[in-house]
Amino acid sequence: MTSFKSKYQDELIKNAAYIGTPGKGILAADESTGTIGKRFASINVENNEPNRRALRELLFTAPGVLNYLSGVILFEETLYQSTQSGKPFVEVLKEGGVLPGIKVDKGTVELAGTNGETTTQGLDDLGQRCRKYYEAGARFAKWRAVLKIGPNEPSPLSIHENAYGLARYAVLCQENGLVPIVEPEILVDGPHDIHKCAEVTERVLAACYKALNDHHVLLEGTLLKPNMVTPGSDSAKVAAEVIAEHTVRALQRTVPAAVPAVVFLSGGQSEEEATVNLNAMNKLKGKKPWSLSFSYGRALQQSTIKAWAGKAENIPKAQAALLTRCKANSEATLGTYKGDAKGEGASESLHVKDYKY
Ligand code: 13P
Repeated sequence: MTSFKSKYQDELIKNAAYIGTPGKGILAADESTGTIGKRFASINVENNEPNRRALRELLFTAPGVLNYLSGVILFEETLYQSTQSGKPFVEVLKEGGVLPGIKVDKGTVELAGTNGETTTQGLDDLGQRCRKYYEAGARFAKWRAVLKIGPNEPSPLSIHENAYGLARYAVLCQENGLVPIVEPEILVDGPHDIHKCAEVTERVLAACYKALNDHHVLLEGTLLKPNMVTPGSDSAKVAAEVIAEHTVRALQRTVPAAVPAVVFLSGGQSEEEATVNLNAMNKLKGKKPWSLSFSYGRALQQSTIKAWAGKAENIPKAQAALLTRCKANSEATLGTYKGDAKGEGASESLHVKDYKY
């Protein structure tokens, strides 16, 4: 097969490679209005537009933070917002050498006749929306497909449906100049062990790359955002080195070398766990033709949001917390993190059952 020819081909390849620059990663700040409401509820802040804007300004203008980032994923509302002094967020990011990204999926719905498995919505007008987002400055996109591990899950239907949904999304992005982040998240929920997670992750990733090939997606202009291979949330924890070994092996077996970077989601790991696990993968010897980096939401923002608590006087403290995590994860992409970012709350589990983003 040959990849289809997009007029954006060179730009897609360049931007995907840039996002994977070692030492840099992605801040996922694309919480939907509903999801950010849950974060705000935990700090007693009202979920309104001014407060959502204020949090995003705090994140994007935190001194030093953009040096450690190559991309930030935004929710549609944020793509069109500005700082209090009137500078569009897109400009703030671009000036800091960071590509703006956009969440383009419209959430999940249940697949009828399954045990709570889902498919992701939003394909119908996606080409049109991608065009609009590109004009507004976005250069990459995210689409989250969700799978779960159970006695009979993920079902062949869920694997097929989510893989082909991701592939269709990916090609629509590429036709319109956006680098697609392909995100098949296998939830951590459950009592399964790490071997089960490895087996399912390999099966799901293999299906995704088959679908991407069928759809003529240009792999050099994509990124993969997978879960790490870990034991389930109701199973005993294992060392970071074990997670690293199982995760890298699953990727070696399924992810083509044409893909420039793998940017993990944190999936309910604590801030510190997410950093230490990424660091262990980058320390691991062996074949790794892609860079291994981060695209964390909760594991980058948890201590920041707590420190902020919606109060202007806490902004410097909150920004310092974000800088600590970004710097630690930047080091983890190089395998040089020394474990010195264990601030208050950094080891707190962020797992939420059946997480909706
Ligand atoms: P977490 O890192 O909080 O899992 O979120 C990343 C993300 O963007 C999920 O779609």
